[in-house]
Amino acid sequence: MTEFDQDSIVAILGEAGGAPRAAVDAVQYHGLTALLNGTAPTVGEIASLSGLGVSDIEDGIEALGEVGRIDLDGDRVIGVGGLTLTPTVHSLRLPNAEMHTWCALDAVGIPAALGLTATVETRCPQCGDRITVELDRGKAATAGPVTLFCPTAPCDNVRADFCAAANLFCSPAHMARWRADNPSAAGEDLDLAATVDLGHAMWGHYKHEPSARG
Ligand SMILES: [Zn+2]
Repeated sequence: MTEFDQDSIVAILGEAGGAPRAAVDAVQYHGLTALLNGTAPTVGEIASLSGLGVSDIEDGIEALGEVGRIDLDGDRVIGVGGLTLTPTVHSLRLPNAEMHTWCALDAVGIPAALGLTATVETRCPQCGDRITVELDRGKAATAGPVTLFCPTAPCDNVRADFCAAANLFCSPAHMARWRADNPSAAGEDLDLAATVDLGHAMWGHYKHEPSARG
């Protein structure tokens, strides 16, 4: 079990089980960049892009799967690093591609960290209202005082334990009401600027291709 704080959230993107770090990095980096371009890469494509062997990439995928951090369709990676082609309540629209994300932090943090122009749409879990965040080359703006619930509870499976609760609320008041109805949910309130900052810490290194050594 991992106790979440913001440093450990950053750290989980960089480690996964016993697989070689380079393989995990390659799957996450090449998976994420392919998905941002609207394509789901195969194991073989990630191997050739990274210069690693197919069996290394398969080990990396298996390690990510054990902690709930990859979606596969056959031998294609359709979700990794927070992005997914499987529909969720959080959508991310880029100029040339449209996808979903595992949580609201992914939806805002990924385009913020990578300096992308994008439109994020999600819904407030308390009232169901649509929330739109516009990003202009990584700078985020939204209409109201949106607040992210950033879980700090113990976590075995990123998507089940963290992503399911990491939602954007339309206002601090609606988060307070949701907290009152969900007293066991442990987490921090982050405003949009703090959400962007956490996004930079989590995904900033995806601006650069990882080294194949390591
Ligand atoms: Zn609301």
